[in-house]
Formats: sequence, C-alpha cells, structure tokens
Amino acid sequence: MDQTHEVFNQSSALVDVDLFATNRGLRDALAFHAPDLQLAPLQSLGRELGTAAMQAHARLANVHGPQLHTHDRFGRRVDEVEFHPSYHALMAAAVGAGLHGTPWAGGAHAHLQRAAGFMLFTELEPSMLCPISMTYAVAPALRGNENIHADWSPKLQSRWYDPQLRFVADKPGVTMGMGMTEKQGGSDVRANTTRAEHAGRDGWGERYAITGHKWFFSAPMCDAFLVLAQAPSGLSCFFLPRVLPDGTRNAIRIQRLKDKLGNKANASSEVEFHGAQAWLVGEEGRGVPQILEMGTMTRLDCALGTSGLMRQALALALHHTAERKAFGRTLASQPLMRNVLADLALESEAATALALRLAHAFDRADDPHEQLMARLLTPVAKFWICKRGSGFGQEAMECLGGNGYVEEGGEGVMARIYREMPLNSIWEGAGNIMALDLLRVLRKGDVAEALAAELAPARGNAALDRMAAVLPQRIAQIEGETEARRLAEDIALAVQAALLVRHSAPAVADAFCASRIQGDWGRSYGSLPSACDFDAIIARAMPH
Ligand SMILES: Cc1cc2nc3c(=O)[nH]c(=O)nc-3n(C[C@H](O)[C@H](O)[C@H](O)COP(=O)(O)OP(=O)(O)OC[C@H]3O[C@@H](n4cnc5c(N)ncnc54)[C@H](O)[C@@H]3O)c2cc1C
Repeated sequence: MDQTHEVFNQSSALVDVDLFATNRGLRDALAFHAPDLQLAPLQSLGRELGTAAMQAHARLANVHGPQLHTHDRFGRRVDEVEFHPSYHALMAAAVGAGLHGTPWAGGAHAHLQRAAGFMLFTELEPSMLCPISMTYAVAPALRGNENIHADWSPKLQSRWYDPQLRFVADKPGVTMGMGMTEKQGGSDVRANTTRAEHAGRDGWGERYAITGHKWFFSAPMCDAFLVLAQAPSGLSCFFLPRVLPDGTRNAIRIQRLKDKLGNKANASSEVEFHGAQAWLVGEEGRGVPQILEMGTMTRLDCALGTSGLMRQALALALHHTAERKAFGRTLASQPLMRNVLADLALESEAATALALRLAHAFDRADDPHEQLMARLLTPVAKFWICKRGSGFGQEAMECLGGNGYVEEGGEGVMARIYREMPLNSIWEGAGNIMALDLLRVLRKGDVAEALAAELAPARGNAALDRMAAVLPQRIAQIEGETEARRLAEDIALAVQAALLVRHSAPAVADAFCASRIQGDWGRSYGSLPSACDFDAIIARAMPH
C-alpha cells in the first residue's frame, strides 16, 4: 500500500543555506553603519547556523523540552532543570559566538556585530536565546556593585559555556537571568511584595535575605539573577547567585515550569525565595532605574529577535513558493503571490534595518545624538517590530499552505516561528508599556530635533518628506496616552523608510514609501500598488 504513488510537487527542505551571505538586507545595513566591520565571524556563523546538524539540534531542543526536578530520589531538594543535550549544544554555540556578555568587553561595533549574530541565531532557534539575551542585558547593570562586577564580568564575557552548578570561581563561563515579574504585577514592578532584609556586609558589599516569589523566572539554571525586592528604603535591585561563595545552593525553590504556547526549548519557571542570600546592586530604593538599564538591552533583543524570525519565515515562504506548483506554474510566479512575497520582504528588511540602527546607537553611546536615538528607538522598535511579528508569521505560514501549519515532530519550523512571535511583544514590556515609555522619552525634550536630524539625510521621497515635516509638530503637541501607539507606529515607519532610502535597493525603498508612508496599500499583506518592482524586491530577498 505504501508504494501506490509517487511523492512530487512538495518543496525540498531549506537546509545548508548560508544565513549571512543570503541576507542582503542585513549585509547592506551592516555595510552602511560599519563599513570596516570584520565580517569573518558572521560569515562563519551564518554558514554554521544553516546546517542540517544545527537544525537537528533546534528541533530536538524544542521537542524534548526542559524537565524540572524539585527533589532527588532520596527526597532532598535539588531544584534543577534538565535539558536535552541539543539545548546545551545550542547554548555552547551561542556563547561561543559571543552573543551573551561579550560586547561589554569593548571594541568598535561590538554591539552591532553581536546584534547581527543574534539575529542570525534567532533564525535557527529563538527560545534558548532567552538566557543569552538576559546575560547580555545584566552585564552593564552589574557595574552598580564594583566587587561583583570585577568577579563576574570576565566570566560573563567568556566564550566558554559551562552548564554545571558551581560557584563562579570554579567556572570558566557563566550566564545570568532576571526576576522582576510577580503574581500581582509585571508591568508595574512597584507592586512587588518580595522582601529584602539586611543580613550583613562582606566582600560583595551589603548582603540581604530575600523572601518572596517570582511568577516568571526564565532560565532558572542560570548562575545568578538580578532580582527586584522591597528593602527598607524601597524597591531595590539585588544580585542573587544560585551557588553561594561557600559552595552551598542558595534558597531558591523552583515551584514549577510554565506550560507555554511556544518558546519550548527555554525553561520559564515560578520560584519562591526562602531567605535567599543576595547582594545590593546600586543604591537601596533605586531598583527601578537599575532594572530599566537591563530592560533597554532586552528590548533591543526583542526587536532583533523578531527581525530574525521574520527573515526566516520569509526565507521559508520564498523557498517553498519557488518550488511548489499550482495551476500549472510555480506559486512564486503567480502575480498575487508575488505581491504577498514582495510585501513580506519589505516588512522583513524594514524590521532588520530598524533593529540594527538601534543596535548601532549602543556602540556610539558617547555621541549625544546616538544617546537620544537609543532612548527613542528602543520603545519604538520593540513596539512596532514585535507588533508586526504575529501577522507576518501568519501570512508567511499561509504561503506554505497546509504544510505550514503542521508540526511534524518539530520539523515544521514555520509553526515554531509562529508560536514564538507573540512572546517578543509581551515580555520585557508589552505594547502599551512601550507606547507609554515613548511618551516618557518625548517629555525629555530634544527628541523632535534629533528625529528630524535622523530623517534629514533621506530627503527626496515626497511622501516621506511630508511625514518628516509633520512628525516634530505631532511630538510637540501630543497630549494624552491615547495617541501614543499611533505616534510610535509613525515614528517607526518614518525611521524604517529613511533607512531603506539610505541603504537598501531603490525598488525596496520606493515600494515601502508608497505603501507604508504614502498609504497606497490595503489592509493585508499582498496589497502593494502594481507599479512596484516585484521582481527586484523578491530577487533581493531570495535565500539562495
Ligand atoms: C515566556 C515568558 C517568560 C518570561 N520570563 C520572565 C523573566 O525571566 N523574568 C521576569 O521578570 N519576567 C518574565 N516574564 C514576564 C513578562 O515580562 C511579563 O509578563 C510582562 O512584563 C507583562 O507583565 P504581566 O504579565 O504582569 O502583565 P500586566 O502588567 O498585567 O499587563 C497586562 C496588559 O496590560 C497592559 N498595561 C499595563 N499597564 C498599562 C497601562 N498603564 N496602560 C495601558 N495598558 C497597560 C500591558 O501592556 C499588557 O498588555 C516572562 C513572560 C513570559 C510570557
């Protein structure tokens, strides 16, 4: 019975693709911001991440998700999470590529380079990047405690991945996580009830005993965490290691792992602290600004991550439609499908451009314009790129027809991408929180001027010029929170358009401006005006 028919007209697996070489939008953006960037590490990473071997690790790490062991078989508490070997292989590859704390060691374009690598890695597997991203984010905040920073930052920057639970001095490399969200409040961390009581002073400074809980506590196998807790002077930031200096385990009890929609390879837990030992980072009562410093970097990663997911979803859609035939010719040659593919390609490249622009600002933190751009574009990029993710994933999935919706033991990469998309929008501050943060930025002044300066070099497209002319006025006149999302959208679109004008192909920039800025566009993907150069846009985006 199994030999009655021939299997034909199914597309082949998209494998052994050089993710860097085939991503023209990414390469052009890097060349624009950093013409002297050393490309060799990205070239080799792009080749490695597209291989069948790495794809197998990504599949296995998702299919065989993390397992919690609260006790050993003799009844003693262990609070350990067990991962499939493929998870560790992916972690070793990401740490080896320096996608965690390495950029803080310095170097020209260190953040941009890391951002490009992070984006490429997301194409392979996004969920295990959670601890990688948190390690990147916490590293600068540790400067709030000089002694801990001195002991931990070399290990946070090291390219050794060591999953063993040991004290930092006995490990070649470490990872870190963070715990803010509690049951009664995530966006409003001031509602935290976890308590911190002063317990002494030692080589790492002021020591406290932490009692309470965290409702979301991802990657609980990290070596240490930055957590928020209420100290006598108010909400404060604490450094909480898993293993204490005397080699014993800290009093962190993992209650259970979250059963999540996607993000399957990553463990997200609920924890209780029973007088866990932690050291103050920064000043007592100044926990919110300390944590915001971290939030900025993880928000960058949400924008980078979604851009990577979009690129991979697009690549799968382009590849499939180029091979699959319907009604006598390939899907990719059907005019309506070409409109969909081109529209997705514009969205993907615009996301890549905006996310990398933001990363570039962190490399030039001593430049006042770049400082303002980092502050402005963080909520804008996190809001808009992540907000576009789910719809993008759905449309790309539809290009694959029924096959796109099928898991097939983890082989259905599109389904994995789709499940991951909403997450980047929710964690690290959901959409409204980003829009409200934009309003806080605007209150600081100078932003309208900085945005005008940012858009000025792209002058020439009539629709973009009109938008650039009115944005400063809208920024100055914005009155209430109700308009914040609309403004965030328009700032994002204007900056994306300006970047595409400056470093993408004219066909891409023109079609983006005609649709997203001028408004010659429908309400779903595939509604670009027919004058667009579909051939050029699609050819530029092809993954091979
Ligand atoms: C898989 C996963 C892993 C996570 N890992 C971690 C982790 O490791 N550490 C950690 O600390 N947290 C983690 N989180 C938590 C995450 O950061 C929070 O869920 C997120 O910040 C939102 O908080 P909340 O869930 O309490 O929702 P709420 O704060 O209740 O917000 C609900 C909704 O209300 C909106 N809202 C809130 N305030 C306002 C307002 N003033 N005006 C208008 N709208 C508003 C928000 O935008 C959101 O859409 C994780 C979450 C997920 C899903």
